[in-house]
Amino acid sequence: MLHTVRLTAPSLRPNLPAQMYKSPDENRPPAAEILTIGDELGRGEIVDTNTAWLAQQLTELGLQVRYRSGTNDQLEDICEALQRAACRARVVVVSGGLGPTEDDITVEAACALWRLPVVIDPAHEARLRSRFAERGVPLTPNNLRQLRVPQGAEVIENPVGLAPGFRLDLGPAACWFFPGVPRELRAMFTSVAARIREHGLAGAEAAVVLRRTFRVIGLGESHVDHRLRGMLDGLPADLLARQAQRPTLHFRLSFPEVLVTVVARSRDSVAARELLDSVGIEVRRRLGGAVYSEGEDDLPVVVGRKLAARGETLAVAESCTGGLLGALVTAVPGSSAYFLGGVIAYADAVKQALLGVSADTLARHGAVSEPCVRQMAEGVRHRLGAVWGAALSGIAGPTGGSVDKPVGTVHLALAGPTGTVARRMIWPGDRDQVRRIAALAALNLLDRALSPERAAPPEGGAAPGEERL
Ligand code: ATP
Ligand code: MG
Repeated sequence: MLHTVRLTAPSLRPNLPAQMYKSPDENRPPAAEILTIGDELGRGEIVDTNTAWLAQQLTELGLQVRYRSGTNDQLEDICEALQRAACRARVVVVSGGLGPTEDDITVEAACALWRLPVVIDPAHEARLRSRFAERGVPLTPNNLRQLRVPQGAEVIENPVGLAPGFRLDLGPAACWFFPGVPRELRAMFTSVAARIREHGLAGAEAAVVLRRTFRVIGLGESHVDHRLRGMLDGLPADLLARQAQRPTLHFRLSFPEVLVTVVARSRDSVAARELLDSVGIEVRRRLGGAVYSEGEDDLPVVVGRKLAARGETLAVAESCTGGLLGALVTAVPGSSAYFLGGVIAYADAVKQALLGVSADTLARHGAVSEPCVRQMAEGVRHRLGAVWGAALSGIAGPTGGSVDKPVGTVHLALAGPTGTVARRMIWPGDRDQVRRIAALAALNLLDRALSPERAAPPEGGAAPGEERL
């Protein structure tokens, strides 16, 4: 049963300019707001992962998170933030401050704002008492404190913790309160997600929200953005007409990858899927083989899957990355199916003794050179008996660069069944970046060798300097 509490006292309307509360744009999805509460957040001691998680969930429910706010455990501030949120969003999700300690005062704030007395929730109390009795531990008064809810609020059961959540309505806004502990918040939110969606979308056109992420490597974010500009406007008009809202395009850098996500908010799942398929074709046409996959799986996972499917093996020879390439490959569960091992050949003597790099090559070209990485790749492939041998050698900096070989120069080679290919890249970044991009560039070279479809150039070919790996 829902209890709706309406506030009539004019003083409860915050004294803010009227235009802040103008009615939402009809073309936009109903607005949601996330409010996270806690002193630890204000001091930067914990990272606010609840907002990120809730934002994803609410977006998936078809709502638009238009505001994200946060306060310390401070009564007046919490009240003001709640009032403000209830005036500008239909759904307000609050996290934190429902625990047993004196600093947890979210219940007090809600009771002050809604003018309700505090009560102990009997169902959670019975459960708490039986748990303590089972363990023979005496109850302290503050154990009961975390069972408090505003009288008349709808109680949300906490299946994995002790503190209940609750819901109160303020005008058209539903405010859902959850504990700050991520595990509890997630379990409880998930159990009421359908109702949050229902409330948020009441009166608005319901939308099916689907997203698809395209993973791009070897092109910078600005180049990706430039190449995809105007893409959504060019979609077939009949397809766009079947969407509840305009689709949106989002870019995120997960160095050195660029993740491009398309969000479809459609009348039905068929229209959403058709839109994403159509966008997918266009993204690949515009970016060519720089798109290496779709979805959550990153390059080490994608390469590993391809090797496993082909029953092929990999060995690595690393200089400037000091084992990072092997670490990325073996971070994937099940990598023993295709990864044999590697040699961290930092010193020239090790490159010679364990990989068979010739003294002549080192003397004539140096360790950071194409001839050297070719011999490293062929050497490790041969000595470990792998189908593929990947090698890299470079100058990660900050010192050690020269005019010919500036800091950030990395030579890569891949030896395989049909011969050896080599690349040179120069990445003007810091040591961590150079090492990370070098390791991923080696994997990218292998993924390209395993994926004929990645041979496609971007539309119109790559501009000079545009391709970085
Ligand atoms: P508790 O019963 O643990 O006191 P609570 O509802 O009072 O729960 P808080 O005291 O605000 O919640 O936070 C408890 C713990 O949950 C924090 O120490 C932190 O580890 C985690 N936490 C709280 N808020 C967030 C947040 N926004 N993002 C990530 N973690 C959080
Ligand atoms: Mg607490």
